[in-house]
Amino acid sequence: MKPNFFDRARVLVTGGAGFLGSHLCERLVKEGHYVMCLDNYFTGTKRNIYHLLKHENFEAIRHDLVNPVFLEVDEIYNLACPASPIHYQYNPVKTVKTAVMGAIHMLGLAKRVKAKILQASTSEVYGDPTVHPQKESYWGNVNTIGLRACYDEGKRCAETLFFDYHRQNRVNIRVVRIFNTYGPRMHPNDGRVISNFIVQALRGEPITIFGDGSQTRSFCFVEDMIEGLVKMMNGPDGFVGPVNLGNPSEYTILEIAEEIVRQTDSKSRLEFLPALEDDPKRRQPDINLAKARLGWTPKVGLEEGLARTIQYFRELLSGA
Ligand code: NAD
Ligand code: UDP
Repeated sequence: MKPNFFDRARVLVTGGAGFLGSHLCERLVKEGHYVMCLDNYFTGTKRNIYHLLKHENFEAIRHDLVNPVFLEVDEIYNLACPASPIHYQYNPVKTVKTAVMGAIHMLGLAKRVKAKILQASTSEVYGDPTVHPQKESYWGNVNTIGLRACYDEGKRCAETLFFDYHRQNRVNIRVVRIFNTYGPRMHPNDGRVISNFIVQALRGEPITIFGDGSQTRSFCFVEDMIEGLVKMMNGPDGFVGPVNLGNPSEYTILEIAEEIVRQTDSKSRLEFLPALEDDPKRRQPDINLAKARLGWTPKVGLEEGLARTIQYFRELLSGA
């Protein structure tokens, strides 16, 4: 049952105009909550939230999270941070500031107004993992001075802050480690593998594979991820995480390229380029904890998820 006007929870979604954030805002508005979407529009777009702007339960706030903000809220989903390597490496110092100062500002806010707060952490905290699949108990293998460190270490420090605010100030936290997620509203130019390959295939351009394409990732469809985030926010008291959220079906990047070429019926050829620095070789979540504590398991397989994402990009590229 939807809450009535006066009982609505006031939910802040930072990074709400981004890929995951916009789907989350949509879901929370549908559930009857009052949603404040905070974003500086670095990688997010107004287009992602356009359909929500006139809703009486939705409010968009332009703000950069490296600066403090004072709001009255009941729950916070902290998603603000560029997530694709080309975007987080564009201004690495800013990425660290967003991850770390953003976490401090949101935790300070949560502490002041006694809000529950969920952190969108990442599988990147495991770095180039030496343990496979990755369980939450694994501490990771991150190059502290590499090109990905601004993001990886920023997110690791944010996790530290969450747990210290929890222990020191009793802030009610939730930490999820998100594995590669894809779907409609990914940024067409953010260089992430699925959006990149689909755009290249639809334009008939070469499909750019870094290295020999044998590196693996495990891809989760956005709908499943949003369900996981909401389940964690509403999960059992005392279950603070960190918890892995992702789809354990693991594919090589070459397999992804071939499946996208097949589904788009593209004439694109595969182009092999030099491997990226510190590119993790294998990644697969162990999601037993999420299954056991949240009753969450992803439902959308790669074939269906790709078909829905390809449909989105077809419309986007045709200007519809
Ligand atoms: P995204 O780039 O689409 O969204 C990030 C949003 O944060 C954008 O709207 C951007 O404009 C906003 N933002 C960035 N810096 C900001 C700042 N300083 N102040 C205010 N807003 C700012 O990326 P996404 O895929 O939606 O990722 C959302 C969150 O989930 C990120 O924190 C990311 O680290 C995490 N995550 C995503 C994935 C994935 O596969 N999509 C995987 C692991 C973790
Ligand atoms: N990748 C690729 N070609 C591209 C974009 C990405 O081969 O055009 C590879 C990249 O090297 C990595 C994998 O795809 O091994 C996933 O990259 P993405 O940037 O999507 O996510 P992340 O590396 O952060 O998991």
